Order: sequence, then structure tokens, then C-alpha cells
Amino acid sequence: MKTYDQWQQLADTVAIPDKAYINGQFVPALSGETFDCVNPTTEQCLAKVASTDAADVDLAVSAAKKAFKSGVWSQMAPRDRKNIMLKWADLVSQHQDEFAVLDTLDMGKSISEMLAIDVPDSIDCMRWTAEGIDKLYGEIAPTGGPNLALISHEPIGVVAAITPWNYPLMMASWKIMPALAAGNSVILKPSEKSPLSVLRLAELATQAGMPDGVFNVLPGFGHTAGKALALHNDVQVLAFTGSTRVAGMLMQYSGQSNLKRVWIEAGGKSPCLVFDDYEDIEKAAQGAAAAIFTNQGEVCIACSRLYVQSSIKDVFMAALLKAAKKYVPGNPLDPNTNMGPLVDKNQMDTMTRFVNSAKEEGARLVLGGAPNYQAGQGFFVEPTIFVDAENRMEFVREEIFGPVLAVSTFDTEEQAIALANDSQYGLGAAIWTSNLSRAHRVSRRLESGMVWVNTWGDGDTTVPFGGVKASGNGRDKSLHAMEKYTELKNVWIRL
Ligand code: NAD
Repeated sequence: MKTYDQWQQLADTVAIPDKAYINGQFVPALSGETFDCVNPTTEQCLAKVASTDAADVDLAVSAAKKAFKSGVWSQMAPRDRKNIMLKWADLVSQHQDEFAVLDTLDMGKSISEMLAIDVPDSIDCMRWTAEGIDKLYGEIAPTGGPNLALISHEPIGVVAAITPWNYPLMMASWKIMPALAAGNSVILKPSEKSPLSVLRLAELATQAGMPDGVFNVLPGFGHTAGKALALHNDVQVLAFTGSTRVAGMLMQYSGQSNLKRVWIEAGGKSPCLVFDDYEDIEKAAQGAAAAIFTNQGEVCIACSRLYVQSSIKDVFMAALLKAAKKYVPGNPLDPNTNMGPLVDKNQMDTMTRFVNSAKEEGARLVLGGAPNYQAGQGFFVEPTIFVDAENRMEFVREEIFGPVLAVSTFDTEEQAIALANDSQYGLGAAIWTSNLSRAHRVSRRLESGMVWVNTWGDGDTTVPFGGVKASGNGRDKSLHAMEKYTELKNVWIRL
């Protein structure tokens, strides 16, 4: 592992990509417009990045469509597609420090987390998905009679992926890898807050042998490039990770254009339930702290609502405060830092607004609080905990996407389930209990795409990821992800 000085040195010398990537090459936006890509640790501009809009979207879609129709990728033998993707994964692996540093500079995630989670997970996603390409078979339907009904999985066409800034490389990988593996052409629009790592990713795709036009990256804003992609009649699938608000807009854009499929991974307000039968209160407290303070709380599955059984509230709160104080904001390039800055001033203002509203509605602050911002010093905030929270309060209902935890109590299992389910969201949930039957009983009844028992946030490329209710539809990861990017086709032959 590099030292802080070595990471700083890499940060000072790393090449910062600043153009769009269309049809196998870096190009400026047709308008010549750029936007400032700002380092949230220093508030300095890292690069002026091409700000693409509808004209660039037309160009990229036309290149992607041409590549798709030509069959250069969509009809390539699965084994050959696999080999290109595996070579691509090897190239990313060879440059993993560079990828880690680009995202850390761009959005403030700690370098240690980049190396432990984002980069290895993204590479694993590439390799695992690539390996699946030549192992997926079609079917023959059991129709009987003088018939042969063949069912196959076909690539769909041009897939647009629109992604957020909280795990820039990883969120993009979860979309683009299965979409490409299935034989589609892909256009990725990363968040305007974190476009860098995926531009480098695109460059390496070409180096690995991916044909031009198959994978394109359009940096730019949501209301320009994002909206134009979502409205485009030659885009067949829209795969989105981001807020529930924007997800709703994308579904409307689909309805206003060609009814493209819209796959949503959206917001969350995940509950953490701590039962008094759990054998190790310290461990539960550490898990609950990690569930809200990891990545500064900028995590879709963050357990921002905590419900603890009344009988253990005092002892649990003491352990929770101790665990929370271990999250200390610092320069994310320092390998010892476990909490970087928030992504930007907007995110900090959102946190301030919710901290104030929590106080006004009667919750009691026991740690942290509104940020003490000093211009030019980075967007650093403290781990923040409120007790006496109630589900009616705005900060308990809305996603804050920062390190703010709302703690309430419950008496019975029935109450715990009701409180947990009382939310428009349904992404993740964590339960801490040593009672096996309770673990199963509660897991079954939680309205949530994912439930963790006696842990939080664990995952694997082999396991689907996604939510229910306003948290989304469809799933990233696992072979189920391929279903989003393939069309079922049947051919009926009369023998
Ligand atoms: P966001 O919705 O503001 O932006 C996401 C993307 O959508 C960005 O690329 C943005 O430019 C684009 N966009 C914005 N307006 C658009 C428009 N009108 N048309 C087309 N595109 C548009 O979200 P964010 O702030 O980048 O990310 C945070 C959100 O993402 C949180 O709600 C978080 O919970 C969610 N998230 C969900 C998951 C999951 O798997 N469910 C994972 C990570 C993040």
C-alpha cells in the first residue's frame, strides 16, 4: 500500500481525461462547452471537462447504432467478446492505482475504500460478466407435436446508462458490463460530479480491442446530455442509478419518446433493527455506525434510520457513540482516512437543511451537527446522530445522502417491522439478532430488495443488487442483470 505522500504524488501527476469518448476517440463537445470538475477536498478545479448536449448525443447514438447494426460486436462470437472484455479487465487491473486516485480526487471517497471496494469490485464485475458470455444457453420449449420452438436471448440495441457520483467506477461497471457482454452498444453518461474514471475506462476498452462505437462516454449535465439520451428514439434501454426524483422523470421521457425500457436503481432510507437478543452489542454498534458513516453516508443502502429495542437503548447508544467517533474526516488520499469530504457544497447545504429541520421537529442531537464550512477548505462534515427521532419527521422520511443517523426505539418485533416498512423506499435493511427464527421471520416481512442479518452492505458479483417500492426495479449484478439487456426471441418451426 502506498503512503499518503506517494498517493499525493500520483494525484499530482495523473493524466486527467477531459474530453468525451465517442466512436473510439476522445473529442471535445461539439459546442466547445466545458464544465469545471472540482476536487471536493481542495475545492480546486481538476479539469474543464467537455459538456456534451443533444448534438453530441445524436453523434454518439448514431455511432453506437451503426456499430450495433454492423454486427461487429453484437454478432461477434461470444468467446471473442469474452476475451476482449477479459483483456479490458486486465488493463484496468494494471492501472488500478490510477483508477483509485481519479475517483478519490473527483468525489472525495477515501483511497483505502477505493482499493478495498470500488476498484476490485468493478474488475470482478468485468471478469465475472465476461466469463458468463459464452455460458448462457438458449432453450427449446416443450411444445410437443410437429414443432420446434427455439427461445434465444438477443441483444437489444443501443443502451444508455446514466449513473451517479457516489461510486463512479463501480456503479457504471454494474450497468455497462452486462449490457456490453450481452452484445449491445452502450453510451454512458456519468454524473457531472464524477466523470473522470469512466473516461479512462473507455480509452482502455479500445486498447483491449473493443470495436469503435460500441462503448461511448458522454460527460455532461442531466438536463442536457442525460435528458437528450432519455428522449432519444434510437436508444432502446435506459439503465439508471440515481435519485428517485430523476428516475420518475426518466420514465416520463420514455413515455414521451419510444417506450424504451427504463431500469431504475434509485434512492433509499434503509432501516437498521437492533434486537435485545443480539449477542454482541459492541459489534452491532460498529455495524450500525459503518452502515451510515461509510463513504460519508453517500451510500444508497446507508441505514439512516436506526430502531433499537428499548431494553438495550442506553448501553447500545454508548457503544454507538464510541463507534461513530472513529469516523474522522480527513484528506481522502491519506490511507488512514476513513471519511472524506462530501461531494460538493450542494450536498453540504442539504445536510445542513436536514440537521436544522431535525432540531426544529424535536429530535435531539447527540453527535456532530450542521457543518462548520470554511470556504476553500473542502466540504468536510462530522458523523451526526439524532435520538428521539420519529417517523413523521422530515429527516427520517427523506433521503439525506450524508452522515446523519436518526435513532428511535421499539418494544416489540411487530412494532420494529411496522416502523421499518413505514417508508416510500425499500432498498436495503439490516437486522441484528441472535434468534434464527426471528431473523427469518423479520427478513420475510421487510419490504426491501436486500436484507442483511448481523452485517451490513456485504455483497458479491454473484448476488443481485436492487430495491423495491420507490427504490427501483430490476437488479444489477448476478446473471439476473443480463435479463435487463437482452430480449427474449422465439422462433417457431413446423416440422
Ligand atoms: P441524481 O438523480 O441527481 O443524478 C443521477 C444521474 O442522473 C446523473 O448522471 C445526473 O446528471 C443525471 N440526471 C439528472 N437529471 C437528469 C435528467 N433530467 N435527465 C436525465 N438525466 C438526469 O443522483 P445523484 O445525486 O447523482 O446520486 C445520488 C442518488 O443516487 C441517491 O438518491 C442514491 O440513493 C442513488 N443511488 C442509488 C443506488 C442504487 O443502487 N439504488 C446506488 C447509488 C446511488
